[in-house]
Amino acid sequence: MPSRIGIDIGGTKIDALVLSPQGEARFEKRIATPSGYDALIAAVASLVGEAAAIAGPDATVGIGAPGSASPETGRWRNANMVFCNGRPLPADLAQAIALPVKLENDANCFALSEAFDGAGAGFPVVCFYTIGTALGGGLVIDGKLRSGPNAEAAEFGHLPLPWPNETEWPLLPCFCGKAGCVEQYVSGTGLARDYNALTGQALKGAEIVARARAGESAAKAALERLADRFARLTASLVNTLDPDILVVGGGLSSLPELVEELGERASAYSFSGRARIRVARAYHGEKSGVRGAARLWSQG
Ligand SMILES: [Zn+2]
Repeated sequence: MPSRIGIDIGGTKIDALVLSPQGEARFEKRIATPSGYDALIAAVASLVGEAAAIAGPDATVGIGAPGSASPETGRWRNANMVFCNGRPLPADLAQAIALPVKLENDANCFALSEAFDGAGAGFPVVCFYTIGTALGGGLVIDGKLRSGPNAEAAEFGHLPLPWPNETEWPLLPCFCGKAGCVEQYVSGTGLARDYNALTGQALKGAEIVARARAGESAAKAALERLADRFARLTASLVNTLDPDILVVGGGLSSLPELVEELGERASAYSFSGRARIRVARAYHGEKSGVRGAARLWSQG
């Protein structure tokens, strides 16, 4: 089996990793994400070159990035790195890199990593969330990433907020063109907006959490709404898929409200009202993105 090169393209940084045939990390490097398309392609090609010098000439390359390729046109779409949208990212990366390349949505790479040897290992149906600035999702069934014929799975962040209450109208517009997408509520950005609407103060998610822990009532209420909305989303997944485990990663996954308390909170919203829902925090943390990218070639 060849060594596997993984690349995780994020909005602010790009991670590279070489996994040996035995699964050991042999090379790790992080660079800042360039701000233009051509510079991004060149930076990824250069990182792959460095990794390939260690991985050997028969290495495979897997790359995770926000967004996905349109199955019809091969052009990239829905990326928060907007300079990639509309560009033939898979073809341009394949041309710039002299090794076989697979490209996948970054949250799908996280899901694959956690299902393979992380918190979801051994479970048949694994739903994965990454909650940071945005809300990403991934679905792995029997060890296989499910992205579907339209490459639309598993965009949990763009499901509509389930069971909105009277205070949640009108629903918030989303960058995808719809209104009411859960990502607008369940994310660091959503928490900040919610707190701002209540208090008029513009704070980052971490500062709001710190204020909640210090006992500030507005911050505690915003955090409670975040947890409740996340529970509603999770109940809708339980009603659809009844996954064996839900794995939560991303910057906000350190909050017990979004991991330890999620199963019980979501259970109340499930159809039976008493589903037993297994939830775990991502085992590999933020490294799951690049580890999952390296594993893309195990997907056949
Ligand atoms: Zn949306």
